[in-house]
Amino acid sequence: MKPTIIIGGGIVGLFSAYFLQKEGIEVTIVDRTDLKDNCSTGNAGMIVPSHIIPLAAPGMISKGIGWMFSSKSPFYIHPRLDYKLAQWCMLFFKAANEKQVKRSIPFLKNLSLLSKALYQEFKVEHPESAIALVEKGLMMAYQTESVEKEEIEFAHLARKYGLEAEILTPEDIKKVEPNLELKARGAVLFPGDAHLDPGALYGFLKKYLEEKGVKFLYNTQVLGFEKSGQKVNAVITDQGKIEAEKVLLCGGSWSGELAKMLGFSLPMMGGKGYSFIQENKPEIRQATILTEMKVAVSPYGDEVRFGGTMEIAGTNQSINLNRVKGIFESINRFYPDFEAKFPNENQIWKGLRPCSPDGLPYIGFAPGYSNVLVGSGHSMMGISMAPGTGKVLAELHQKKDTAIEIQGFEVGRFD
Ligand SMILES: Cc1cc2nc3c(=O)[nH]c(=O)nc-3n(C[C@H](O)[C@H](O)[C@H](O)COP(=O)(O)OP(=O)(O)OC[C@H]3O[C@@H](n4cnc5c(N)ncnc54)[C@H](O)[C@@H]3O)c2cc1C
Repeated sequence: MKPTIIIGGGIVGLFSAYFLQKEGIEVTIVDRTDLKDNCSTGNAGMIVPSHIIPLAAPGMISKGIGWMFSSKSPFYIHPRLDYKLAQWCMLFFKAANEKQVKRSIPFLKNLSLLSKALYQEFKVEHPESAIALVEKGLMMAYQTESVEKEEIEFAHLARKYGLEAEILTPEDIKKVEPNLELKARGAVLFPGDAHLDPGALYGFLKKYLEEKGVKFLYNTQVLGFEKSGQKVNAVITDQGKIEAEKVLLCGGSWSGELAKMLGFSLPMMGGKGYSFIQENKPEIRQATILTEMKVAVSPYGDEVRFGGTMEIAGTNQSINLNRVKGIFESINRFYPDFEAKFPNENQIWKGLRPCSPDGLPYIGFAPGYSNVLVGSGHSMMGISMAPGTGKVLAELHQKKDTAIEIQGFEVGRFD
């Protein structure tokens, strides 16, 4: 029997392998890197069923245009002559409407809730995993009246969809964050959210899969496919040809290029972001988003990670220090007493979020193929949604009914 080949060993590829090996499927993961660092290792690790609004939402267009004039802003599309970027922006603008957002909400919510439940199961099944899922919710802190209005409106919307949301006053915030001042007009707390250490999760999962017999081919770049009719028979790499029973495309921001090799369209842009770790002094306790700057704060006891900015960057991986400064400056703007130190360049982590233009992932069979599945495009929610995605892909692989409805994630929706 030939193995199932998973292209891409990010968190989506690993969770797909996890659920496939549970079904007794022989799996090989092929990655063009040594898997020491990708978008799945240094992100903010937030598990966010509360994030039911896709990136492509009506408010983002007016905000995005304003933000484009600031090099330290949370969202940035560098204007340049690039056909792929122009096509992606056109689809983004088209998707950023009320009707599309309403249609997306149940799909995003159900995938996130499934994933959170799977993380809880995972923690029980693997107590040794040190994924340290911290189930203390996520706080959205705001300083301005306009953002307060938006966040409170969003809290009401989330409640309408059955999610818990608590509106906190500055007094309430002091109880949540007793060790230092958090300068905010208020906050919304989503108690159903959680956070974890993505590097610890990733390291555990990779080791576990290796021990379970999943084969990893490192430094092996996929360059093409051998096809016959509706099937892919082999994956062609720079290290040679690998026979395949089935193929899963989990290539993150590069998935569009893999789709192109197979003759279908999968619009995708890398959304570059940065993070850095600081000594947690005085200790921040609550996972928080500093909403005006969209900076994520993920505390892990003695350390805390700050992460943010979204620069629609294609697959350019250079570090733009001005954007890192934007994250850094927001720390003391919100936590005036925090002992923040600007990180050295080698302490700055960067990652490319795989962004589809409508903000929904691609999950399901590739158009025109009976043995190719896709799991990609999770944008800023790839950690949050990876277990659910892996489970659904394993179900499709095994021709089973899926645990949740997946029409909203149709792979060929832009084909
Ligand atoms: C600053 C920042 C903060 C974030 N915070 C959060 C958060 O709090 N919560 C959350 O849920 N998400 C968060 N994210 C998003 C999350 O990190 C991503 O959605 C997720 O890591 C994407 O995983 P992936 O497996 O799809 O892609 P990746 O991790 O990018 O993996 C894709 C892999 O495919 C391989 N590949 C690509 N093409 C080929 C090829 N041709 N041949 C072989 N291999 C190939 C690549 O080498 C790579 O290893 C954040 C991201 C950033 C940048």
